[in-house]
Amino acid sequence: MPELPEVESVRLGLQAHLRGAKIIRALQLHPRALSRESIAPLQAIEECRITSVNRRGKFLWFVLDKKPMVLVAHLGMSGQFRIEEVGQARHPHCRARFRVKRGKQEFHLSFHDQRTFGWLRVDEMSKGIPSSISHIARDPFDEKFDRKAVIQNLKAKRTEIKRALLDQSVMSGVGNIYADEALWQARIHPRKLAEKLSENEIASLLTSVARVMKRALKAGGTSFDDLYTNVNGESGYFENSLEVYGREDEECSRCGHLIKRIKFTNRSSHFCPQCQPRR
Ligand SMILES: [Zn+2]
Repeated sequence: MPELPEVESVRLGLQAHLRGAKIIRALQLHPRALSRESIAPLQAIEECRITSVNRRGKFLWFVLDKKPMVLVAHLGMSGQFRIEEVGQARHPHCRARFRVKRGKQEFHLSFHDQRTFGWLRVDEMSKGIPSSISHIARDPFDEKFDRKAVIQNLKAKRTEIKRALLDQSVMSGVGNIYADEALWQARIHPRKLAEKLSENEIASLLTSVARVMKRALKAGGTSFDDLYTNVNGESGYFENSLEVYGREDEECSRCGHLIKRIKFTNRSSHFCPQCQPRR
């Protein structure tokens, strides 16, 4: 599943290819490609020009020149955007296709999604963010991310710290992989209660979150050709730099103890029992 750094890589690629481009035709090719919350069919954005591509957490949106209309996108488990030449055969996983014109060049922007958990949505902007995602909190890459407030909000949570980290109304963009990596780096057990942690511990955890995500973003690069193959799954390009995620029974690089995997909702948590004691 693409996490924030991958989505940011996608955003950079989209921004580079599409800023100023005009959408000539918009075609929905699968019933689930359009979110049920969409306020209009995709055709509504035909004739619009894309002025920029923005992101909060894992949500992307295309800012259009026909305000307040906006196109929101979520990659879900396997969503990918691809730039394709006009005349290129449609991929079997293509769920929506836009014919766009930028300068004299015409091409297709295709939304591929094998597992169909991703979606597109026509929405309206309100106070600088699409209405339907206004409840999503700022992510650590956001200029206006309020670190102090997030520390307080996390500390007030009467849940396990990992669950609190994943709460998109406190802070967005942290998914399963980076939560595990950041907790390892900050030496915090994923099941420790958030309210039992000190402010310093939470502050160091937030620093770790930002650090692991920045590193992944750097590794992802910004080449569009690379990035769409890279947002394909959890075992992507940054796999080699993961310390605990997916490394059950391997040695912790810090202490040599074996990495453990425990159940977390319908997924898993990975941690080092030595570096991240429960007490
Ligand atoms: Zn360890």
